[in-house]
Amino acid sequence: MDAVSDASVETVVIKSSSQIGKSEIGLNMVGYHIDQDPAPMMVVLPTERDAESWSKDRFAPMVRDTQCLRGKLSGPKSRDGSNKILHKKFIGGQLTLVGSNAPSGLAMRPIRILLCDEVDRYPASAGAEGDPVNLAKKRTVTFWNRKIIMVSTPTIKGASRIDAAWEKSDKRRYWVPCPSCGEYQTLRWEQVHWEKGGGKKDKESKHLPESARYVCEHCGDIWSDPQRWATIHLGEWRAENPFVDTAGFHLNEIYSPWIKLEKMVREFLAAKEQGEEAMKTFINTSLGEVFEIRGEAPEWERIYNCREEYPIGTVPEGGLFLTAGADIQRDRIEVEVVAWGRSRESWSVDYRVLLGDTAKAGVWNKLSAMLEERFPHARTGAGMIIERMAVDSGYATQEVYAWSRTAPLGRVMPIKGVDKSRFPIQGPSDVEVKIGKRKRKRGAKLWTVCGPVFKAELYGNLRQETPDEAEGEGFPPGYCHFPQYDPEYFKQLTAEQAVTRVKKNGFAVIEWQKTRERNEALDCRVYARAAAEYDLVRLTERVARNKESKLEENAKENNKGNAVKVKPSLTMPEAETDTSSRWADPILSDDPWL
Ligand SMILES: [Zn+2]
Repeated sequence: MDAVSDASVETVVIKSSSQIGKSEIGLNMVGYHIDQDPAPMMVVLPTERDAESWSKDRFAPMVRDTQCLRGKLSGPKSRDGSNKILHKKFIGGQLTLVGSNAPSGLAMRPIRILLCDEVDRYPASAGAEGDPVNLAKKRTVTFWNRKIIMVSTPTIKGASRIDAAWEKSDKRRYWVPCPSCGEYQTLRWEQVHWEKGGGKKDKESKHLPESARYVCEHCGDIWSDPQRWATIHLGEWRAENPFVDTAGFHLNEIYSPWIKLEKMVREFLAAKEQGEEAMKTFINTSLGEVFEIRGEAPEWERIYNCREEYPIGTVPEGGLFLTAGADIQRDRIEVEVVAWGRSRESWSVDYRVLLGDTAKAGVWNKLSAMLEERFPHARTGAGMIIERMAVDSGYATQEVYAWSRTAPLGRVMPIKGVDKSRFPIQGPSDVEVKIGKRKRKRGAKLWTVCGPVFKAELYGNLRQETPDEAEGEGFPPGYCHFPQYDPEYFKQLTAEQAVTRVKKNGFAVIEWQKTRERNEALDCRVYARAAAEYDLVRLTERVARNKESKLEENAKENNKGNAVKVKPSLTMPEAETDTSSRWADPILSDDPWL
């Protein structure tokens, strides 16, 4: 990459996948300046620990193995301290290594050559001093011949530093000629194709990663892995924008001479199976692209039109276990019961509005009754219980805690929603419960649920195409099935959107905002999903088969006794018949969808 030593280029931006030798570029640049053009240099890494390992594991071996460098640096054991781990002197210059989280290190001395590595992993601010990249850049202003190199695997669109810098650059991409037709093109994931085979039932054998190949976008001919590797040597960089002072480079893993397309396809399929977070990692680290949180809500009409015919209150064949999410309001509790299957496929089983003042016992008894209820499984007829119910404690906190103590052990999770967390679910922690006038220090358990993670996953799932059953296609991982609910349910489910907000320090954050007043259905779904997390993570094929045979046994037991328990065993304290008042909202009567 000649731009690094080209005097007309002040800033070099490299946005790329993780395994493409981008750290070697930085290393080579440092080596070049020790040997050919000595200068004060600084290398910034996300943390001081990263800086230490860069020094020991990358820089030291390079010096050891490169003859022209070896003579220019004193040995690591030299007594004058000219070769410390984070500070190295050489003839005509020095090299300082710092962590982006240490403002003192960033503000030290004038620097001509600045390398900022993995900039998307830097904190928004170094201490209280502001953006670490800007702080480091200030060190370079006294040099007319300064050079700034920014390197990173990108992260989320709108919040990615490297992507923002790349957008301002001349955007160079690498063009290679097709071995068949000779037309130049960039290598893109859309052109990686593979075969699909096997039956609809057997999802494992559906995709055939070993058939992965690159398809020329001009002539449609197939390139083998060796052909692709060979053509990379014939390629050239072409800029998309006119050059001002910043040269930007982008590379993905398809350009890697070490990686087979089969491996990439396997990783892609695994990520698709695991959900949104894994897909984000694949897009960032393999494709070197930003991940776009598609925050705009899916069209509720489209999901409504894909409703299915299974009866409300029953569990369709693929459902292996049930969870529920409950949203507490002043005058009612809203509950969704969801069945979960392989590959996070889900079926909404029922949605109920339990009316009653949540400061009084009545409505809570109705919620208890739901824990006793048996929901019939469509294929076996087995009665399935709600294995876990997540209940939001944001409103009526003490009532939720107190009620959770009455529930069967481990089946109720009081939860608290947070917007930011390193984990989708954390806990449980012990919380104090007031019982009458007494307080119990560790009276209940509380889990923390990061709503945005589950909302983003849900919206990704809701956007999936309904497969063409005539074509024998199966449902994609995470697909959400719904029975014949009213439009209001679907409007509430899609009642929020994610927006990118740029903070004062220039760093972008993603926020979820309501677009409609009522969003209880969305909350209930998020809670039910959170309640399923532990079981979904552990749902291997073996566990799934085990659950299926349990359902069959359960069904046999029921037939023997000839008494399928479908009615709740607890008596209702109030005579209201509203427990199944699903979406009986009168304002809907003139809705065109009814
Ligand atoms: Zn071609």
